[in-house]
Amino acid sequence: MSQQEVGSEMPADREKKHILIADDSRLVLRMTGAILEGAGYKTSTVLDGFQAIQAAYEQAPDLIILDIMMPQINGYQVCRLLKSDPATTDIPVIMLTSKSQRTDRYWGLSTGADGYLTKGGDTDELLALVQELLAKHHKVRPTQPEGAVSQSSTPFSILERVNNLLDRRLYEVTVMNEITQLASPMVSYHDTVRAAVKKIAQMFEIDAVALVHTIEQDTALHIVPIRPVSPTYIARLEEKALQEASLPFDGQGQQIRRYVAPSQHDDSPAPMRNQLETVYHIPILRGGAAKGVFVIAGDHRLLIGPEDERTAQQLVSQAAVVMENAWLYDKIRQMAITDGLTGIYNRSHFLHLLDQEMLRSSRYGRPFGLMMLDIDHFKRVNDTFGHQVGDQVLQAIVSQCIEELREPDEIGRYGGEEFMVLLPETESAQASLVAERVRTRIADTVVHTTAGDARVTVSIGVTAWPDCGTDDSEAIIAKVDSALYQAKTNGRNRVVTEY
Ligand code: GH3
Ligand code: MG
Ligand code: MG
Repeated sequence: MSQQEVGSEMPADREKKHILIADDSRLVLRMTGAILEGAGYKTSTVLDGFQAIQAAYEQAPDLIILDIMMPQINGYQVCRLLKSDPATTDIPVIMLTSKSQRTDRYWGLSTGADGYLTKGGDTDELLALVQELLAKHHKVRPTQPEGAVSQSSTPFSILERVNNLLDRRLYEVTVMNEITQLASPMVSYHDTVRAAVKKIAQMFEIDAVALVHTIEQDTALHIVPIRPVSPTYIARLEEKALQEASLPFDGQGQQIRRYVAPSQHDDSPAPMRNQLETVYHIPILRGGAAKGVFVIAGDHRLLIGPEDERTAQQLVSQAAVVMENAWLYDKIRQMAITDGLTGIYNRSHFLHLLDQEMLRSSRYGRPFGLMMLDIDHFKRVNDTFGHQVGDQVLQAIVSQCIEELREPDEIGRYGGEEFMVLLPETESAQASLVAERVRTRIADTVVHTTAGDARVTVSIGVTAWPDCGTDDSEAIIAKVDSALYQAKTNGRNRVVTEY
């Protein structure tokens, strides 16, 4: 091989790829440098972590080889820092160390290093990895990274940059942590969503957030104003969020539950916002799939750079985990108090509500009524049409009953074909009237079942507090049960009231 041929194989100096090597051992620097120079790369060397960061910003090398144990700032820290800064994040980093333990490898890679090599290892292995990483990053990297610190960077400006990055990371981690802490089973789904939104809002100059969130078959729309905003503003934001949400996922045909938090009115005389100015949307991602969208709105001060976007995406993804857990917990809690067949409260939850009502009433001296309702000759329905049709009749009776009740009234399934109704703020005479209304409604209604039409009647026992003369829940149940028994023995399809 002639001199000339060698020369033509070697790229001209300005085309040579530039590799920065950081190691506190001059011997390692010399050896690694020689290997790389021999392979046609341009190298520069530094002896500690601080110089490595400085050189990375000033020289914008094509690749960096980092020792782990170095004075000032160690290799992990250097790597983490360079990878957190958009100006240097694309520069491939190889961690080079005498250690080869698993934990070191883990830390090396979790700091964002692109490769990991053991010192004194195979020369070919080093060159192959360098070549591979340079090829991979060749296309995406601009020659001079955007925002690289100027050539005249001082140790002070480097330190300031390092500090800013660390500060930002710390803040992000703090907010992330706070979001995770929201995962308390005591907090309902929509309270969790509001709290998470407010945490995320701390990071940006936000006026309001709209969030469309889909879990399983459920879609919820949450509007959380951070500053005073007008109803028009809320309507526009809502529209915007639904628009954005329909792009990445199909929320159509679903019932959307809407939660609007009250507009915040702080003490500052800030005018109420009326116009949507700047709007960003961040997809809510779970397991790689879009589960909705997080729309943040503000005025001209709401400027989101690529770094902010990454932060926002991370926070939203973290919030999605917490929100989904809260939703599941709500669902489980709901299931635990609901009767599976009829969807009304089950016996234990109804009794809990009755206990609470008893306490409230005796404390504040407010009356309440109580009904116990039992379907007449229900066994015959089952015997004639079968158990499945019996179930349909039970569901129909519950629906009819609910239609005759008011909003604050609570209904529960007490037993097989026995139901109880709690009537807050209701005197005994009024309770008897409600019971009579329910009885006639059921007696007059034909139930359409899959096996044909059926007619049933109910017997109802009624009592009320304070007329019943007891503050004991069990005693009041005994009273209403006795009234029901009277209704049955007196011929069924009737209401009997007992105090
Ligand atoms: P009475 O007028 O004295 O109340 O007569 P009844 O036949 O309604 O009363 P009984 O207590 O003898 O029978 C209640 C029936 O209700 C028996 C049971 O099979 C039926 N039942 C209880 N739970 C369910 C249910 O979930 N689905 C169906 N289909 N039937 C049920
Ligand atoms: Mg019955
Ligand atoms: Mg019964």
